[in-house]
Amino acid sequence: MDLFEWQAKELFGKYAVPITRQVVVTTAEQARAAAEHLGGPVMVKAQVKAGGRGKAGGVKYAATPDDAEKHARAILGMQIKGLTVHTVLISEAADIGAEYYFSFLLDRGNRTYLAMCSAEGGMEIEQLAVEKPEALARVPVDPVAGVDEAKALEIAEKGALPENIRDQAVDVIVKLWDVFISEEATLVEVNPLVRTPDGQVLALDGKVTLDDNAAFRHGDVHDAYRDNSATDPLEVRAKEKGLNYVKLEGSVGIIGNGAGLVMSTLDVVAYAGEELAGTAGKGVRPANFLDIGGGASAEVMANGLEIVLSDPAVKSVFVNVFGGITSCDAVANGIISALGLLEGRGEELTRPLVVRLDGNNADEGRRILAEAGHPMVEQVDTMDGAARRAAELAATGSGA
Ligand code: GDP
Ligand code: MN
Repeated sequence: MDLFEWQAKELFGKYAVPITRQVVVTTAEQARAAAEHLGGPVMVKAQVKAGGRGKAGGVKYAATPDDAEKHARAILGMQIKGLTVHTVLISEAADIGAEYYFSFLLDRGNRTYLAMCSAEGGMEIEQLAVEKPEALARVPVDPVAGVDEAKALEIAEKGALPENIRDQAVDVIVKLWDVFISEEATLVEVNPLVRTPDGQVLALDGKVTLDDNAAFRHGDVHDAYRDNSATDPLEVRAKEKGLNYVKLEGSVGIIGNGAGLVMSTLDVVAYAGEELAGTAGKGVRPANFLDIGGGASAEVMANGLEIVLSDPAVKSVFVNVFGGITSCDAVANGIISALGLLEGRGEELTRPLVVRLDGNNADEGRRILAEAGHPMVEQVDTMDGAARRAAELAATGSGA
């Protein structure tokens, strides 16, 4: 997960990395109030997860609260690299003596961590790496040894940070390493890291990527900083239920077990829809990706069905399960219990469900479903056949 600048710097603050005081706002009036509260000149900074905001006009200096309000009004709603600005950061404006570049990142190619440091900050790092590669120090960091003061000094020297700020730079580098390791980040970047005319070192911008695979160890930070404004609301709900769901544009809801099976299910449904388009004149496509994983319990099945059926575009649902460790009879019972659970939640099944069971104990699974005889559930034994049936039902909109 990429963090916004304000989040990155808030995190820096927790580790005593020096930053300027800041307030996050969403309206121009709040921007004025924030500037009044901070007192003195402020920066008005677009909060979008993209670099080059300065160049795009999304970072402005405001000498007065009036200016802060005016700049915030112009920046809010602005598009930067295709992203709409919904939030601006009002931060105390620092005087800049010099701008430097610093980052820690995961160097996948070399299977190690890497520190990058340069006395030539401010410009975008991609540009610096191309135009002045000799000015950008790349120092590998042994993940076990980490970064102590000696290592930080080596990095600062290789990056040619000036001598008069070395001690402070070393201190900041050690603290940024603490952020990087303690928060399990894959990127911590400060550009620019500055020296003020009175000799203070400050992080004026921050870019942090947290490792999603470590989220279970950092639930509070990940929950607090997750940005759902750009995510489909159904995907947000699915994530809360621990489901692997991606919203698509079609009308055939898809539930399967195992990512590979679900991917091929999307293909066969799309194909069936194409075939149909020739005859019925309607394009029918998958409405979503949903992998309910190996142990398809009744509860997981119910949650999956609920999410898929919450999508008003869904006209039919194709449940495609290959029984493995969880055998088909367990899955069949799971589907029946799931329908019961849904009805208990007041969500009766109103759209047809096409179920294809294959694999371990398929016969028994099919028998259980057939015996239950749910009016909206129909079984087809082959994947292609079931895809065709689900597509047909989505096209005609009629139940079994
Ligand atoms: P980016 O363009 O998305 O990387 O956004 P930055 O936060 O790095 O801001 C762009 C530029 O604005 C920086 O390189 C600085 O030159 C300038 N800037 C940012 N914060 C301050 C500040 O507090 N005071 C001054 N004088 N300039 C700033
Ligand atoms: Mn920057």
